[in-house]
Amino acid sequence: MTVWGRSKWSAQLFLKTLLAFSCFVASSALTGCRMTENTNAPSSSNSITENTQPAADTHNRLITIDMHADTAQRLLDENIDLNLRLPNGHLDVVRMREGKLDAQFFAVWVEPQFYGANGVRAVERADKQIAAVRALAERHPETWTLATSAEDVRRAAREGKLAALIGLEGGYAIDEKLESIEKYYRAGVRYISPTWSVSLSWAGSSGDAVGQTRGLNDFGRSIIREMNRLGIIVDVSHVSDKTFRDIIETSTKPVIATHSGARAITNHPRNLDDDQLRALARTGGVACIVFYPAFIEPGWDAKKLQVDREIASLVDAASANTPGNPSQKRMARDRVREQEYARRLPSVSVARVADHIEHVVRVAGIDAVGLGSDFDGIQAVPRDLASVADFPNLAAELRRRGYSETDIAKIFGGNMLRVMEATGRN
Ligand SMILES: [Zn+2]
Repeated sequence: MTVWGRSKWSAQLFLKTLLAFSCFVASSALTGCRMTENTNAPSSSNSITENTQPAADTHNRLITIDMHADTAQRLLDENIDLNLRLPNGHLDVVRMREGKLDAQFFAVWVEPQFYGANGVRAVERADKQIAAVRALAERHPETWTLATSAEDVRRAAREGKLAALIGLEGGYAIDEKLESIEKYYRAGVRYISPTWSVSLSWAGSSGDAVGQTRGLNDFGRSIIREMNRLGIIVDVSHVSDKTFRDIIETSTKPVIATHSGARAITNHPRNLDDDQLRALARTGGVACIVFYPAFIEPGWDAKKLQVDREIASLVDAASANTPGNPSQKRMARDRVREQEYARRLPSVSVARVADHIEHVVRVAGIDAVGLGSDFDGIQAVPRDLASVADFPNLAAELRRRGYSETDIAKIFGGNMLRVMEATGRN
């Protein structure tokens, strides 16, 4: 951003006025004028803010943060160059720029079936992904900044750089050691989801039978307290309902869901019911809406199960014909699923994502909602929210529904910046 001299003051005022006016006129444009960022403490209002004119201050422009993408595995297993426009997947630098995505949380995911639910292989797998994300900023400092705080994200946005942040999806690489939490904090991890789809001894998952009756044990509670102490946000996406309740009881800091939907719209164990949404809001936390049709479109997941049966032999063949480690074979299977789901399953639009956002706003307030795409971790996407380049389509849909620029700024990143500030140590 150019610093204006005093002699240009009146020209600056004129331009600001002009910009504010054109934003007002073009408020339904796809990408236009996302200028406000509101990081105030949560208000008690559950209704959307009145459609006031956008703040005429480009220093306070909207900052977009996506809380969950699985691209770290691609960095590791496919050795992709994120700085190029990639022919596949959902995220790269070129498309981040197009979609005005400022900050991406890279989920470090250890698949317990392949690497163990704890132990040295799970730790190695997580450490390699963390190193791959950190290498983005080390090798391309002109493009990327490794961010560990809200201020880092704001600074990156001011400097026109992309912020890379790290979250740990599933506590398998914690290896049942409390000291692992501080190790990951030092490595830059700023949220941890206690489980993925497989329950741990200390935390139940929404994805297996054991999780239906398992919450946190004493060790699990000590993990949550250690995260609170260090400044790592607790993520409830994937945990069982009982674990959810135990986390809410234990955590003294805001709790978030990095990639879930509303169960009232799509009744799926990965989503949050209205009581859970209100409980998150009471902690000062945020539910970040996922883009995966299985979690947002009613009936889609049941149809997917049918298609999975139909394409089983195709998927198996892709796996058998692909050399490499188990993750590379899984990616080959996922590529077949991606093609077949696109052909065989109903198309979903960005409007459905907006429905989930609106539901959270109604139930828990405008301060309790954010975005968590799950890009590069899902085999189907909404047709007009198909990569990070399409974030402006979601902003446009929200404008069409009457959301102000201030509201959109909260949803797109302001709410999460507030949580990062409330959770961080400085
Ligand atoms: Zn996930």
